[in-house]
Amino acid sequence: MTEIRLFDSHLHLSDQAFAEDRGAVLQRARDAGVAELVTIASDPADARRAIDLASASRGVWATAGLHPHEAAAFSIDLLAELEDLAALPEVVAIGETGLDYHYDNSPREEQRQAFRSQLQLAERTDLPAVVHSRAADEETAALISEFSGRVRGVLHCFSGGNELLTAGLDAGWFVSFSGIVTFKRFDGAEAVRRVPADRLLIETDSPYLSPVPRRGRRNEPSNLIHTCRRVAEIRGEQPETTAEITRDNAIIFYNLHT
Ligand SMILES: [Zn+2]
Ligand SMILES: [Zn+2]
Repeated sequence: MTEIRLFDSHLHLSDQAFAEDRGAVLQRARDAGVAELVTIASDPADARRAIDLASASRGVWATAGLHPHEAAAFSIDLLAELEDLAALPEVVAIGETGLDYHYDNSPREEQRQAFRSQLQLAERTDLPAVVHSRAADEETAALISEFSGRVRGVLHCFSGGNELLTAGLDAGWFVSFSGIVTFKRFDGAEAVRRVPADRLLIETDSPYLSPVPRRGRRNEPSNLIHTCRRVAEIRGEQPETTAEITRDNAIIFYNLHT
């Protein structure tokens, strides 16, 4: 059997959920073939923690951004802080940003402003954007189309409809699938099949969204294999193939020199 190598394109390693055993989590990930990962920030303080983790561990990179849940904190000063962080060598993307109209943890107008400003930041810094979109297909699609040709991005933890997927693919964006693909109620198989092989990414979004058979527990990057297997099954390919193309794609998307 060939040894499987996986790239977790999106997780929150800086999360408090890993405070007690982060080193062991990274070791288990490596033992499970997940040698590379990008730890995604929710706000500037979190980006600093992510950058520290990235500078301390091989195969770990960070992002700088403001999550839509936190968009109420957005300001010009905060944006300037993100821009400073984005210049550090550990930072490989802007995000996560986007729109979450399911939880509405921040007012929608502020979510839109923070999202647009971070897409502009991605354009200025020439970094890709990591985008979270929930129950906001239409507006996310409109912004992606507006920035088409100016910003590269990924629709992370994709669970949207056909129009959003089309807008993303038309703009040359990548699409990432999480453990949701293993859930019984998952109804996005068509989207998993529609994403071309050179735009496909997989992620755990740890500590959230544990895949079956680990559902209900804290998620961690070593669980990525379950999502890889399910994506492979849906696409009708071998898990080794899915692992290889998604790893290659992550390296290209984040422009990494491994
Ligand atoms: Zn997200
Ligand atoms: Zn996330």
